[in-house]
Amino acid sequence: MIKGLGQLSTLIKIKVNSTASSALLCVACLNNHAPTGLCVPCLSTLPSNTPACRQCALPLAATAVDLQCGECQVDAPDFHRSYAPWRYQFPVNRLISHYKYHQQRAFGRPLISGFIQHLQNQGCFEAHNRPDLIIPSPMHPQKRRKRGFNQAEDMAEQVARHSGIPWSVNLLQRNRMTVSQSGLKRQQRLANLSNLYQVTGTVPARVAIVDDVITTGATARAIASALCAGGAQDVQVWALARTPAAHD
Ligand SMILES: [Zn+2]
Ligand SMILES: [Zn+2]
Repeated sequence: MIKGLGQLSTLIKIKVNSTASSALLCVACLNNHAPTGLCVPCLSTLPSNTPACRQCALPLAATAVDLQCGECQVDAPDFHRSYAPWRYQFPVNRLISHYKYHQQRAFGRPLISGFIQHLQNQGCFEAHNRPDLIIPSPMHPQKRRKRGFNQAEDMAEQVARHSGIPWSVNLLQRNRMTVSQSGLKRQQRLANLSNLYQVTGTVPARVAIVDDVITTGATARAIASALCAGGAQDVQVWALARTPAAHD
């Protein structure tokens, strides 16, 4: 079981990332029966994102009847459906942080495996729901070079390999660096992101955006808007996790 990912020692990280048997080790409890990187008990303790808004995956109260959040009802985004299997809470946030900022794929592997399973269970790869193209959320080239890694590209490549759906890193570009979104009010966030993304060719009718976390939904809104302006008619968002509303 997950006892304390927050206290994961350097020793454990080294062990998880380097030992010959690491392919079977659980990154949370070091149980050695974890082919995907998290053992069954640890995987089952991850915070499932249900119920959630069907359009933007915002976590909703357990008593929610209408599975659409207030914001989507009042100001619908250009994407019609989001899939995010977990809430961005402990220990999912820690696992993503290790994967994203430290490129420790051992921590991303169980999440991506569970994410692909979730998409499959939700029918995302079946003909009626299957996108023509998967597009990872782009990073500004300068940031990409500095970090040496875009987790959304890594995720998109793995989903594409599993599903057989093509993916592209070139069709959508990020034009400029932006000030951090955190601390900005909703209108400021949307203004900060306007015209940030630009398509470089014809966008197919059905597209899925892949990102690690949907934080406020502002980035997904801006990307979906650019894709629809470029010809997309049906945009979905596929993410590992969704951040709960600020008041939660
Ligand atoms: Zn475990
Ligand atoms: Zn919503």
